[in-house]
Amino acid sequence: MKIQKNQIYTVRITDLGADGEGIGHLEELCTAQDGKEGANGYTLFVKDALIGDVVRARIVKAKKGYAYARLEEILTPSPDRVEAPCPYARQCGGCQLQALSYEKQLAFKDRKVKNNLVRIGGFSPEFIERIMEPPTGMDPTPGLGAPFRYRNKAQFPVGRGRDGRLITGFYAGRTHSIIENRDCLLGVKENETVLNTVLSFAQEKGIDAYDEKTKQGLLRHVLIRKGFATGQIMVCLVLNGPRLPEEEVLADRLFAAVPGMTSFSVNINREATNVILGEKTRLIRGKERIEDQIGGLTFSISPRSFYQVNPVQTERIYAQALEYAGLTGRETVWDLYCGIGTISLFLARKAKDVYGVEIVPEAIDDAKKNAERNGISNAHFYVGKAEEVLPQKYEAEGISADVIVVDPPRKGCDEACLSTMVRMRPERIVYVSCDSATLARDLKYLAGNGYEVVKGRAIDNFPGGVHVETVVLLSKGEIDSKKVRVEFSLEDMDMSGFQKGATYEQIKAYVLEHTGLKVSSLYISQIKRKCGLDMGQNYNLSKKEDAKVPQCPPKKEAAIMKALKYFQMI
Ligand code: SAH
Repeated sequence: MKIQKNQIYTVRITDLGADGEGIGHLEELCTAQDGKEGANGYTLFVKDALIGDVVRARIVKAKKGYAYARLEEILTPSPDRVEAPCPYARQCGGCQLQALSYEKQLAFKDRKVKNNLVRIGGFSPEFIERIMEPPTGMDPTPGLGAPFRYRNKAQFPVGRGRDGRLITGFYAGRTHSIIENRDCLLGVKENETVLNTVLSFAQEKGIDAYDEKTKQGLLRHVLIRKGFATGQIMVCLVLNGPRLPEEEVLADRLFAAVPGMTSFSVNINREATNVILGEKTRLIRGKERIEDQIGGLTFSISPRSFYQVNPVQTERIYAQALEYAGLTGRETVWDLYCGIGTISLFLARKAKDVYGVEIVPEAIDDAKKNAERNGISNAHFYVGKAEEVLPQKYEAEGISADVIVVDPPRKGCDEACLSTMVRMRPERIVYVSCDSATLARDLKYLAGNGYEVVKGRAIDNFPGGVHVETVVLLSKGEIDSKKVRVEFSLEDMDMSGFQKGATYEQIKAYVLEHTGLKVSSLYISQIKRKCGLDMGQNYNLSKKEDAKVPQCPPKKEAAIMKALKYFQMI
C-alpha cells in the first residue's frame, strides 16, 4: 500500500520532534483505513498532537519513509494534555506546547537538549545524563497552570481584516496571514492599550497598513517593550516611509493612555524583506531608551538592541553563567556576543577585567553607557564579529583570557572563533546557548580540542514554546584531552564520546525501538560503508579467505538508513 495525501490514519503519538510536533509510527498503527501492509516503521509528523495522544491524522505530504499529517481528531487524549489557556494556541505559530502540562514541557526541553548533545555532539547518553543538572523552569502564573505574561517585548504586524478594518495579531504558522489578537497571553497587559490607541488613531486618520503582497501601505509593525523592574514602556512603529501623519497627536494619546509610557519613536523600513526593523529610528517623544534592572544592575535599551525577552529567567541564566565562570576577582574574562553588555557587567563585578564583543554598534553604545550607568570601570567593549575581533586581538596584541563566556545567536559560534578560543587556552569556557543543536556541534569541536564538558543545565525562558536556553561549563582540565579520553573509555568502553555520530549500540537500539528489527554491527558497517562513512573496525573482512559474508537484507538496510538519518550522520 502506498501512503498518499489525504489518507487518514489512526496513530499513537510516541515522541515530540524538535518543533513540538507529535511523532508516531505506523507500525504501532491501530487501524489504517485501507490496511497496514508495508507500513511498518513509517513515521508520521503530526502538528498539534502530543505524546500519549491517539489521533486520527490526515496525510498532507508523503515522503519515502515519513509523512507530514494534520491532526483531524484526538481519539484518546494524552494524560499530559491540558486546556490551552489561549484560544489562538493552535492557529498562532507562537506556542507549540501550550496544550502540554508545564511539567512535561520542561521534561521535553530537557530531553531535547540531551538528545542533541548525544546525537550531534557525539557524547554518550550516560555521560550527558551524568553531567546535566536538573532543568530550571519558571513558576506558573496563578490560575493558568503554566507561566504566562513573561515576555517584555512584542512585535505586532499590522494588516487589514476581511471587512477592511485595520487589524493586528500574529502571523499564523509560517504564513503572512494575521490571526487577530491584541492581548497575547505571553505579553504584558499594556500591549492591548497601546494597540487599541495606535489602531484607532490609524483608522481615524486613514493610515493604511503595509500589504505584504503589494508592498504598499505605511504601517508595518508595532514594537512594544517594557522594563519589568521599572515599568517603563517603549513603543516604536515600523513604517514603510519617513513619517506618520500627525505623529504628535498619537504621541499625546499614547502618553495619556499608557501607564509607564517613556519612549515613542518610529523606525523606517522600506525593504521588502522579513526583517522587522530598518536601520533608522527617529524619536518622537520621551526618551530614546527605556531602562530595566536585572540582578541589581540597570540596563538601558534602545529599540534595535538585543535584550533577553524573559527577565525572570534571564536573571537565572546570568546567575548560572556567573556561577560556572567561578570568578574570584582576579580573572581576565571575555564575553563574546555580548549584546548590550548584560552578562559582561554581571561578570565584571567579580572579575579583574571583562572584554565584551558584539556586532551591532548601537548595542555596544548601550553596553558602554550601561557600564558607566552602573559605575563599572573594568568592562571594555569592542564592535565587530567575534570571529574577527578575537583572533585579531589575540594575534596582534597577545591578549589572554582566564575565562571565556559565549552567548551566540542560533547559528552558534563560527569555527574561527572556536579555534581562537582553544588556542587562548582559558581555564574555563561558559557556553550560553539558545539552540542546543548548534551548541552540541560546538561542544563537539571544543571537546575534540582538549576541553572537558563539566556540567550544564537547561533553563526554560520560553514556556509554551519549544525554545530553551542551555548553559554549559567546559574546563581545560589538568591533563587536558588525555584525561577526557580516559574518562570516556572507562565509562562507555566503546569511546562513543568522540565517535562521529551515533555508536553501533545507539544505532541498534534505535532500529530495534523503531522497527522491532535486530541488526548486527556487520550490517551497520555495510550500510555505513555504502554511505561513504568512515569506520573504525571493518566488519566486512572475514577471517577466512573465502568465507561468505552475509549481506544486509533490504528491509534492515532501510531501517539502518533511517537511523543514520536520525542521527544526522547522512
Ligand atoms: N549576551 C547578550 C546577547 C546574546 S544574543 C544577552 O544576553 O543579552 C546574541 C548577540 O550576538 C546579539 O546581540 C547579536 O547582535 C550578536 N551577534 C551576532 N553575530 C555576531 C558575531 N558574529 N559576532 C559578535 N556578535 C554577534
